[in-house]
Parts: sequence; structure tokens; C-alpha cells
Amino acid sequence: MPELPEVETVRRGLLPVMEGHRIARAEVRRDGLRWPFPPHMAERLTGATVTRLGRRSKYILADLDTGETALIHLGMSGRMLISGTQLGKFHHDPAAPAKHDHVVIDMDSGARVTFNDVRRFGAMDLWPTQDIANHKLIASLGPEPLGNEFHEDYLIERLKGRSVAIKSALLDQRIIAGLGNIYVCEVLFRAQIHPARKAGRIAATRVAGLVPIIHTVLAEAIESGGSSLRDYRQADGELGYFQHSFRVYGREGKSCVAPGCHGRIARIVQGGRSTFYCPQCQR
Ligand SMILES: [Zn+2]
Repeated sequence: MPELPEVETVRRGLLPVMEGHRIARAEVRRDGLRWPFPPHMAERLTGATVTRLGRRSKYILADLDTGETALIHLGMSGRMLISGTQLGKFHHDPAAPAKHDHVVIDMDSGARVTFNDVRRFGAMDLWPTQDIANHKLIASLGPEPLGNEFHEDYLIERLKGRSVAIKSALLDQRIIAGLGNIYVCEVLFRAQIHPARKAGRIAATRVAGLVPIIHTVLAEAIESGGSSLRDYRQADGELGYFQHSFRVYGREGKSCVAPGCHGRIARIVQGGRSTFYCPQCQR
């Protein structure tokens, strides 16, 4: 499932072909994905210029000069593909859409942006730009982990008195937007905090220490996505999925990589999701 760094990678990949460009033609090939598409979505997209391509949490937000914003969520398996004959660097054949190509957007530059989603948990909606903060998927989100509103005092205040496990607290989108299972595991590993520890029982200095670690882990993943983007763009124009090496995620039974630690990575299930951690150095 794409997490925030993957979505940011997709956004950056789409920027040069979408931002500042006009949608010459949009084709909507089914009624919806996870939810129905808004009425007349193809007509509302066609002819609009993308004035800004932004992101909020795991949602890509394309502001249009029509006063609406197109919200795109990749869900579990959504992919954005860029193709087009006029962009020599893309080899993808801009022929007939494939089975899971649900929305096809032709930009006036000649680039084609295709939203492909095999499992159909993705979503796309159109909403007034000035009211986008009140969209049902966005209204309850906490601050962006890389934004100015997310800082040490904020996190200390939000975790104060909470008896929920720190892993669950960091996954709570109302506290921090866009932090998912993989990166929460990585953050807690680097912070040497046990994932089951009660959020409100962790010393304020250790909670404060989570903030720069969250910044670093996400920034590294976005950087890594950026390098994969260069590879992808030379391959087939697919954006968003990249191989990233994790220090703890998916490493059950393997040696802990923390210097001087001789522990082995364990896996527990919290809230139905796998947590990977080192029982030796995470306390
Ligand atoms: Zn360890």
C-alpha cells in the first residue's frame, strides 16, 4: 500500500506533465472505484488547467482553474502511469487502455496520465477548492508530519495521558496525517521505543525526540523515491512503487542493525497490523 513518501513521489512525477497544463480530454471508464465518481467527472475535467498539484496526507490534490480540486487516492494498489508519444523519454505505448486503467487523462502537452487500480480501493473526487479542507477524507486529518504545525510541543500535548500504545497513536491520522504502518515501525525502531508502550507514559524528552526522527525517516524515503523516479521514467512511466530498504520492517527473525545490539527482530500484531521491532533495544 502506498504510504506518504510513495504518494509524494507520484506527485513529483506528475508535476512536470500536469501542473500548468490543460486537460485536453478525460475518459472515465467505470462508475467509480472504492466510492462512485462524482457526476460528469470527465466533462468537469476536460478543458480545465491544473493550476497547482499538491498533496495532503496520502491524497494528491490537483487544483483546477474551474474552481474545483481533483482529489486522487491510490488506495491499496493504485498506480499512475505516464505515457505519450510526444515525450520521447517514455516508452509506454499510448495505445488502447488496459483492463484496470480506470481514468485516462490526456494533457494538452501530449502526455497521457492513466489511473490504474487492480483492487479498486482507490478513489477520485471533485470538490470546490476553497472548501477542500472540509472534504470528508480531509476534514479530520491532523497536521502534515513535514509541515510547520507538527512539532515537539504539539506531539507531547497530543500524547499526554493517552493509554493507547505508541504504535497506534502514531498511526492515528487525527494526530499525524499520512504516517502508515511501515514508517511507524521504522520511526519507533530508531527512537528505541517499544511499540506497545503506552503513549502517555513515555517521557516528554523521548516523545520530542520522535519528531526529528519522523522528519528524517520520511525525508529519506522521499529522497529514495526520487531516485527510483528517475529509473522509472526511463522505464515505462509508472510512478510510485519503489524498493526501499527498511531497518526493521519485514525483517522478522533477522539480526538487529542497531550498533552494538545483538537482538533479533520480532513481529507482533497490533490493531490487526504487523509490528516489527527489536525486543533488545526498543524499550
Ligand atoms: Zn536491537
